[in-house]
Amino acid sequence: MGHDLADDDFAIIIHLLYIVKEASARRVGLEFGAPPAKSGKQDLRRRNTLLLLHLIQSDGPSSQAGLARRSGLSPATVCGILQPLIEARILVEERKSTSGLGRRASILAFNSRAIVTAGVCIDLEECEVALVDLSGRVLDKTSAQYPRYTEPNEVVELALRCLSTLEARNSLDRGAIAGVGVAIPGLINSKTGLVQVASNLGWLNVQLRALFEQRLGVPVRVEHLGRAKAQAEAIWGKGKNQRNFLCLEIGSGIGAGIVVHGRILRGAGGVGGEVGHMPIDSAGPACACGLRGCWEAFCAGPAIRKRMAQKFKDGIASPSVLNPMSTLRDLNAAYARSDPVAIEVIEESARYLARGLVGVIWTFDPAFILLTGPVVNDCPSLIDAAKQIIGGLTGNARSFDIPLILGSEHAATGVVAASAAVSLRYLEELASLNPNAGSPGLSKNPAGFSQQP
Ligand SMILES: [Zn+2]
Repeated sequence: MGHDLADDDFAIIIHLLYIVKEASARRVGLEFGAPPAKSGKQDLRRRNTLLLLHLIQSDGPSSQAGLARRSGLSPATVCGILQPLIEARILVEERKSTSGLGRRASILAFNSRAIVTAGVCIDLEECEVALVDLSGRVLDKTSAQYPRYTEPNEVVELALRCLSTLEARNSLDRGAIAGVGVAIPGLINSKTGLVQVASNLGWLNVQLRALFEQRLGVPVRVEHLGRAKAQAEAIWGKGKNQRNFLCLEIGSGIGAGIVVHGRILRGAGGVGGEVGHMPIDSAGPACACGLRGCWEAFCAGPAIRKRMAQKFKDGIASPSVLNPMSTLRDLNAAYARSDPVAIEVIEESARYLARGLVGVIWTFDPAFILLTGPVVNDCPSLIDAAKQIIGGLTGNARSFDIPLILGSEHAATGVVAASAAVSLRYLEELASLNPNAGSPGLSKNPAGFSQQP
């Protein structure tokens, strides 16, 4: 389990799926001989294995015939690749389906008794931990609460206790956990697992991956929440087979996972996607990053609540059902009833949200934007108002009427997103093992696999 997930893995999968899609559109049989000239037999097998595993991962349990059809590989190739994985009980026959003239086809699924990943989503006052199988199914979950600004060590301790609870509850031993994905908002370098700044948590330069790995002894991947969600959307959600889209998380801050040409954008410093600190107005409100007038200082959750409270400080003329302590849900409900304060707050916030979205659209030209996070869930009227503004904008050069879509119900949850990064990495590990090379063969129970049924 030594090597790190190359940034390229995600790109390779998207690339392979793209080729499959193109090929099936043209009804061309394909054996993946086409890509890089330098790719030898070994690499071809690795890529084909990765593709088949990824098809089971993203589309759920499948028959071998179905996998052959969808991958464009011959049934014999599919069988040759999958048989060692079945023998090692990484894949199991989930059920039999009757196809055609009484023929029974076995449906292959990941063995969630033997291999699962754990997703840990760290938020301001709560961490949620789930066991997630390699197809993205949540098997069980639990959570722990803590006061805001709790020290990283203590949060890690609470998360590990949650994980132990889940393992005990599901009779899994640590060997069955293929890896732990941790999603967290802030400036995160996912290559090193360093949390440079999580200003809303009050964390600075925390070696979060090391903190988890020291205690766990399994691979850990720390990922920015927005990027984790974009990955989960690409594998299990509305971003499947899409090469250019954005996943925007709006909560205590604003962060994005940006997929460009089938590759998640990380940037030179590994922190790409922090669009919340895009400057909107230098005379604007103070931001947690230390500057003024960032996008999230105008329209993330705390900024909207501050705007609402300010209306009362300013001495509002109209009566309102709201008060300075009202929540975003209250605001949303009041807006639906045409409350004058709610209308002012929503419309002002929506103008800022739209302004930033236009910047993002100009920069990345996405096919669509997926919106997720507490503000999106609690205050849909804000999203609708921003959509109206953007839809009405037409500059000299373009229309901004690109789809703003709610994130997937399942893939956009923090714990599933957290597990996505480590799940991809694990498939890569599996694909790289060569059952014919004698070492370390899959049938010989490679490190981290449990032989439990
Ligand atoms: Zn900022």
